[in-house]
Amino acid sequence: MHGERQWPIAPRVPPIIGGREEERGERLAVVDPATEERLTDIIEADAAAVDRAVTAARAAFDDGEWSRASLEVRQRALLQMADIVEAHADELAWLECRNIGAPIAQCRGRHVVRAILNFRFFAEYISQTAGETYAQQGDVLTLVTREPVGVAALIGPWNAPLALTSMKIAAAIAFGNSCVVKPSEIAPLSVHRLVELLETADPPPGVINLINGRGPVTGAALAGHPDIDLLSFTGGTAVGQTIMAAAGANLTPVTLELGGKSANIIFADADLERALDSAILSIYANNGQQCLAGSRILLQRPIAERFMDAFAARAEALRIGDPTDPATEIGPLATKAQFDRVLSYVDTARCEGCELLVGGRRAEGFSTGYYLEPTAVLAPGNRATVCQEEIFGPFATFQIFDEPEQAWRIANDTRFGLNAYVWTARLDTAMSAHRALRAGTINVNSPIIRELRAPFGGFKQSGVGRESGAACEAFYTEEKTTTLPCADMPIHRMGTGS
Ligand code: NAD
Repeated sequence: MHGERQWPIAPRVPPIIGGREEERGERLAVVDPATEERLTDIIEADAAAVDRAVTAARAAFDDGEWSRASLEVRQRALLQMADIVEAHADELAWLECRNIGAPIAQCRGRHVVRAILNFRFFAEYISQTAGETYAQQGDVLTLVTREPVGVAALIGPWNAPLALTSMKIAAAIAFGNSCVVKPSEIAPLSVHRLVELLETADPPPGVINLINGRGPVTGAALAGHPDIDLLSFTGGTAVGQTIMAAAGANLTPVTLELGGKSANIIFADADLERALDSAILSIYANNGQQCLAGSRILLQRPIAERFMDAFAARAEALRIGDPTDPATEIGPLATKAQFDRVLSYVDTARCEGCELLVGGRRAEGFSTGYYLEPTAVLAPGNRATVCQEEIFGPFATFQIFDEPEQAWRIANDTRFGLNAYVWTARLDTAMSAHRALRAGTINVNSPIIRELRAPFGGFKQSGVGRESGAACEAFYTEEKTTTLPCADMPIHRMGTGS
């Protein structure tokens, strides 16, 4: 174990309902992906525990201490939460690193930084919101105001629990809702500690509730609960479909942030050094387990051979190791199932005529832990399975194109549409990409840049709805229209004969 400091890992991860920990429930092991040893247990919330959590959230909402609290009260609490997260940044990063195997430098430098920002951002955002007034009808003033919706169910994935789940918590409570948070059963540690820490800012009991457990047990009970008012989900596309169906039965509004298979299109005129840095980062950061990975790299023919050689050399030079070592660039994949799945795509790729450029095996020197070599293949075409399915690991595919239209066609030939990267020196090429690509975010000459004010979400099967300041305001509030007469308006007097 590297790193200067270690933090205790709780011997069990219980639900936190109405501000209190619960002990009842089946225990499920959480495994350290670097050592394959048990890290801790979660106490799984069954349907009854989920119901208690929703009831606690409902009671907190109806009580009004938070849902009707003044802006200043909510803002102060959110800023305090940001400070608390910042004060525990090293601990939170370490827990996330131990649990999911992402390198500590990335957990500390990206995941926790984003979590802190989420609370600060929404604290500031809520002070800038405004209603609407319509005065076009001279004798009527019509006001549009926004109110919190109620109980928000927040279901998160394992690949970046702190960054992604804290966005949901901050947004939900900033607008006055209460919430029930369900992290992935694979990666509950950092979010559990986060909720413990948020509780020290003294939100009223029941405003933030935490439950853990498997998707088909705890997640399904939450998604289908008739007394939730909202559901925000980040995870895989297949689970998103199940969740939307469950929510649909109760007409619960959803936002779904789902999978991706994003194109990274590199033109011959691009700054190739920067494009290489970004291509490596976009596919291998977080051990390749990121929704917005640039997993389909499209190269314009004149630079293709040179770029693939340089890419393979850089991939081979990445430092694989203990994720708690600050020098590590690639850690273990999060679970054995994930390791086996990603590795199975190497065989699939070979069978379908792909050329292995680099990697493709368990990392040398690691007989324990879910360590995989950074991998890349050259595919014979975009119909190859590895160009169509989200692999969600350190696995890049390359394809070669000649003309821009061909690149746009390949990029759009997928059921996903989360994001895309374009590298070119020409403004007109960049603008053609902007127009042609069917994706929620387009990054020109840059790796992913997340601007919280701007919408983030997917076209096609990459999602439903968006997350941003304004999009979260629209989702986490109800609009209410109120009409006020400005003068004594004549009212038609039915039943009077006049
Ligand atoms: P997943 O869909 O397997 O699980 C996500 C969450 O859903 C977990 O908490 C899980 O317990 C729960 N769940 C599973 N089955 C459920 C059910 N039947 N009912 C209710 N809840 C259920 O996803 P994952 O493997 O944790 O995360 C990886 C996926 O998430 C990838 O596809 C990735 O692209 C996607 N992702 C998307 C974004 C984005 O912003 N678009 C961000 C991160 C990850």
